[in-house]
Amino acid sequence: MKAVRFVRTGQPAEIVDIPKPMPGPGEVLLKIAGAGVCHSDLHILDEDLGLKGPFVLGHENAGWVAALGLGVKDWKEGDAVAVYGPWGCGHCHSCQRSSENYCHNHASLGTMGGGLGSDGGMAEYMLVPSARQLVALDDLDPVLAAPLSDAALTPYHAIKQALPLLTPDATVVVIGIGGLGHMAVQLLQALTPATLVAGDIDPAKLEHARALGVSHTLDTRDADAAAEAIAAIAGPRGAAVVLDFVGAQATVDLGVRVVGRDSRLSVVGLGGGVVQYAANQPPYGCQVSVPYWGSRTELLEVIALARAGRIRSEVETFPLEQAQDVYQRLREGRIRGRAVLVP
Ligand code: NAD
Ligand code: ZN
Ligand code: ZN
Repeated sequence: MKAVRFVRTGQPAEIVDIPKPMPGPGEVLLKIAGAGVCHSDLHILDEDLGLKGPFVLGHENAGWVAALGLGVKDWKEGDAVAVYGPWGCGHCHSCQRSSENYCHNHASLGTMGGGLGSDGGMAEYMLVPSARQLVALDDLDPVLAAPLSDAALTPYHAIKQALPLLTPDATVVVIGIGGLGHMAVQLLQALTPATLVAGDIDPAKLEHARALGVSHTLDTRDADAAAEAIAAIAGPRGAAVVLDFVGAQATVDLGVRVVGRDSRLSVVGLGGGVVQYAANQPPYGCQVSVPYWGSRTELLEVIALARAGRIRSEVETFPLEQAQDVYQRLREGRIRGRAVLVP
C-alpha cells in the first residue's frame, strides 16, 4: 500500500510502498478515509521533536473498520470511526481518566501515537493498537471527521479548561486562524457567550474568520495596533482568555500584553515562544497553560457537536501522492481550514 513516511528531521516526507498491516490480537485494522495534515508534522519534519523515524505520518485519522484482531468485539467491518490519537499506556492515572494525552508513561512507550512515533494514517490502511482508541462516527463523513480528532479536539480541551472565565461580559482572543484556529472560533461560538476576537498575520485567514461569523478580526503584524484594538474591545478588564495557536515569541508577547487580571493565557502552538514572568506581568491571577491535545471523552463531545451541526471542519482534500506539495502549501500558509489526505 502507499504511505507517507517521516524518515528523519530535515528530510522531506517520502512516499513509499509498504506491506498492508495485519491486525494482531487486540488490534484493529482501519481503511483510511482521510488523514488531516497538522502543522505539528512540519515541526516534526523541519525541527527535532525527538521522534525516531521511519514511521507513517498522520495523527488525525478517520476511516472504516477493515479487520478485527483476535479478541476484539463490539465493532464490525465497515463501521465508520475516528481514531483517538494520543495513545497512552492505558493504565496510569491519566489514562484511566480517559486523558491519554497526559499519560505518565509516554517517555517509556517510545511513541506519542500513530503518526507520532508509530505508523499513522497517511496510508491506505492503519493499525490501531486497541479498540479503546476508536470512536464511532455513525452518519458523519469520515473525511470531514478526521480533523475533529485533533484540529477540533485540541482547541476544545483548551476552551473547556477556560470555560469558567468565558462569561457574557468577557473577551476571548484567538490567535492563528488555521487548522486549529478555524475550529476554535466555531467551538467558542457554540459553547460561550464571550466576545470573540480573531487575530492572524494573513488577511486571507482573517477573511476566513469573518466568513465563520467572527466580527472582530485583527491583523497582528502591527502588535501595538492589535493590542490597542483588543484593549478597546475588552475595556479595562482586558482579555479574559487568550488562545494562542501559534506560540511564537510575537504571539506569546501579545497574549501577555492583552490578558487582564484573573485571566488565562493558553499557549497551544509549538512556535517556541517563551513566557517571561515579572511582577504583575502576565497580570496577577493569570493562569498560563500549555494544553496538549484532549481526552477521549472530550473527543466524544466534539463529535456530538459536529453531529448536531454546531461545528464543521473546512477541508481541502488531496491524494496521498501530493503530500510533499501539501506540506509546502501548509508551510507557506496556503491552506484554508485543514488539508486532508485521501488515499
Ligand atoms: P496552521 O498552519 O493550520 O495555522 C497556523 C495559523 O497561524 C495560520 O493561519 C497562520 O497564518 C497563523 N500565524 C502564523 N504565524 C503567526 C503569527 N506570528 N501571528 C499570528 N498568526 C500567525 O497550523 P495548525 O495545524 O492550526 O497548528 C497550529 C499550532 O498548534 C502549530 O504550532 C501546531 O504544531 C500546534 N499544535 C499543538 C497541539 C497541542 O496539543 N498543543 C496540537 C495540534 C497542533
Ligand atoms: Zn496535530
Ligand atoms: Zn498512561
